[in-house]
Amino acid sequence: MPYANRPVDKDCVFCRIVAGAIPCARVYEDENILAFLDIQPIAPGHTLAILKGHYPTLLEVPPREAEGLFIALKKVAAAQLKVLGAGGFHCLQNNFPLAGQTVFHAHWHLIPRAAGDGLALWPGQAYESDKRMREVAEALHSHITAGRCGGQDE
Ligand code: AMP
Ligand code: ZN
Repeated sequence: MPYANRPVDKDCVFCRIVAGAIPCARVYEDENILAFLDIQPIAPGHTLAILKGHYPTLLEVPPREAEGLFIALKKVAAAQLKVLGAGGFHCLQNNFPLAGQTVFHAHWHLIPRAAGDGLALWPGQAYESDKRMREVAEALHSHITAGRCGGQDE
């Protein structure tokens, strides 16, 4: 999509970065994607990848953007492994304030991991029963297969 036709929010900090009005430490850029260092990194090299278009959360991102985004995420992550010597990486994305989203321009966090870095980002817990786990899956599956999610194919 030509840049002029992309959605923009003039008050959005990431749109301002895309427009060049706010500086960033650029890691990768192509026609539709920009990746730059997070100013408050969880680990050195923590990078944010964004679509240049303004989409507040994952739910608004058009699926046609997915391929280019995926390619960019893989490039940045591969560079983190090679250049920074990371032993692994997280690809995380927060949606809505309850999940910790503070910038409402969808973005993907690529967080390099090093042995012994002490990060614990994954506090998993078992379901109270297998029955409860199946109920949750069935409720989600029914909703999705009834086509009530909207926006999936747009
Ligand atoms: P989230 O909590 O998922 O919305 O993440 C927003 C991230 O954007 C935070 O990790 C911030 O440190 C980062 N951030 C906010 N403003 C900037 C900026 N101007 N340049 C780089 N990173 C930023
Ligand atoms: Zn924006």
